[in-house]
Amino acid sequence: YIDVAEELARHGLQFHVNTEIGNVTLGAVACAATKDSSLIATSRYGQISSFVTALKVVRPDGALAVISEEEDPEEMRLWRSSYGLLGVIVEVTLRVQPICALEAEHRIYSLAGFREAVPDLVRQGYGLMMYFFPFADRVVVELRRELPGVAPDSSGRWWLRNAFWRRLGPLIALFIKRISPTKGVEHALSRAFHRVMRRGMSWLVRGKRTRPNAQIIRYADDPGPVKYVFSMWSFPEERYFDILEDYFRFCHDYAARTGYRCDLPAVGYRIVQDRNALLSYTHDATVLSIDPADTGGEGWDDFLRAYNEFCSRHGGTPMLNQTKHLTREQVRKAFGERLETFARERRKRDPENRMLSSYFAEFLEPGP
Ligand SMILES: Cc1cc2nc3c(=O)[nH]c(=O)nc-3n(C[C@H](O)[C@H](O)[C@H](O)COP(=O)(O)OP(=O)(O)OC[C@H]3O[C@@H](n4cnc5c(N)ncnc54)[C@H](O)[C@@H]3O)c2cc1C
Repeated sequence: YIDVAEELARHGLQFHVNTEIGNVTLGAVACAATKDSSLIATSRYGQISSFVTALKVVRPDGALAVISEEEDPEEMRLWRSSYGLLGVIVEVTLRVQPICALEAEHRIYSLAGFREAVPDLVRQGYGLMMYFFPFADRVVVELRRELPGVAPDSSGRWWLRNAFWRRLGPLIALFIKRISPTKGVEHALSRAFHRVMRRGMSWLVRGKRTRPNAQIIRYADDPGPVKYVFSMWSFPEERYFDILEDYFRFCHDYAARTGYRCDLPAVGYRIVQDRNALLSYTHDATVLSIDPADTGGEGWDDFLRAYNEFCSRHGGTPMLNQTKHLTREQVRKAFGERLETFARERRKRDPENRMLSSYFAEFLEPGP
């Protein structure tokens, strides 16, 4: 994705959605769930597949075909969340736009202050991405707005944020773990690290006319242990703030019970309602997400299982390619009839199950 974004910039063009991950392939973004905070005043959608207008594909029986929004919008809706189950995508046509400046800044709120501020920020046309610090009662909000017709002229120091996620954040989190003689020391150092991170973001990562493609990160192909992992669930906006308060409590309770805390801040995105893909996680409402992040050490997988239960209980929707340890019941509860429809259409297009992985068979096929 990042290679194409850089080539587009050389031609004065840009993608509508600039995810943090640059290493993702065009094939994956065309048919799997993606996320970035919706730039509500301009590009609008926060999922890349919504901007896909045509695909060249190899069907399960080996036949070549072209699927296009213009000729068959319903088939296109199926393919935009097909996860490789309907065939292999070999060519993607995406809607792009003339490159324009992106206004960006970060603000720090308490949890209550964040809840109060969001309606006004949305009214001002900002796209919202969040960093959550449950043990400090703080939320950092990244505010972004596209400025059509205005040429970008600065990096906005996106490289600082990118360096944090690419290496610096996980490196410091792991270092703190290694040098701390007790959990108490680890948590104190971690709190100090997070405080510096919040201040750094709000003071340094900002700009009136930043380059949109500078947000995309080229991660190391093999990062070794210095990496982060995350998992994501989304919730309808009208119930989100109560659920977020519950999530902060959940983190405290879980830590009290098990001693485990995620060593990186959770993030979240505001993504508008979008029915362009059948299995869109924002199909029924505009959502905000909660995506816990960690360096992935001991305790992370157990935390995720408990987190999945918490989210499913609160009526959340996961991303089938970005939420770990999902159960069949959780997926069926979240996607309901749309999952049945997709399963039926998939069987028609691949009766011999040539493209069906064991992971998706668990969610799509009848149980034993
Ligand atoms: C460090 C990190 C940061 C991330 N940041 C973001 C982010 O900012 N935004 C975001 O949305 N996601 C982010 N992700 C998640 C990422 O988008 C997903 O993990 C995505 O699935 C990765 O895609 P991939 O190219 O590795 O393909 P895979 O994960 O291998 O594939 C994804 C799905 O697409 C299907 N597929 C892939 N290629 C084709 C093809 N040619 N034809 C048919 N089907 C195909 C696969 O079968 C699979 O179901 C991040 C992940 C990591 C690890």
